[in-house]
Amino acid sequence: MLTPQQALEELKAGNRRFVSGRSLFPNVSPERRKETFAGQKPFATIIACSDSRTPPSYIFDQGLGDIFVIRVAGNICGKTVLASVELGADHCVTKLIVVLGHRKCGVVSMAVKNSPVSEAVREIINKIKHAELTAKLKNPDLSEDDFIEAVSRENARNTAAELMKRSILIKEKTIRGELEITAAWYDIESGEVEWLGGHY
Ligand SMILES: [Zn+2]
Repeated sequence: MLTPQQALEELKAGNRRFVSGRSLFPNVSPERRKETFAGQKPFATIIACSDSRTPPSYIFDQGLGDIFVIRVAGNICGKTVLASVELGADHCVTKLIVVLGHRKCGVVSMAVKNSPVSEAVREIINKIKHAELTAKLKNPDLSEDDFIEAVSRENARNTAAELMKRSILIKEKTIRGELEITAAWYDIESGEVEWLGGHY
């Protein structure tokens, strides 16, 4: 069983392989299917955007049974996302939670540009608006494109902080050293994941 730090190193190594075009596409064999049919023990939970360019299994070069993935536009923390994260941490005993924002996120751009949206999408936009406020204070002079990316990073941090704040289970596991949460940001052009760090 991996420690949270080892889980992080495993993801970093997978991303290095992906960036350099040397992905191994591990753990996708028929044998692995049989092995994981008996039960799953993924070592990390990834909350990523629904964007078609950001699939965590490719980005981190992981296979069947390796990572527990939750995808939602804008990688925000809603009630069902929180529930899924708890299931991953409790029943699947993942050691690390990564909230993965990304470059050129459509819904972040819509939030910053105040684009008209449906009521359902408004729920996501409202979360991102919190990140926009913080990003504005930290970076008052950025161009619009760079500002959108600053909001995207801030939004990933906010989701990580919100998970910790809203889930007693996650908080307790973190205090016991069984679990770590980190925010990260994925560049859809270079393939690189930038680790935003921070303790939540
Ligand atoms: Zn996105």
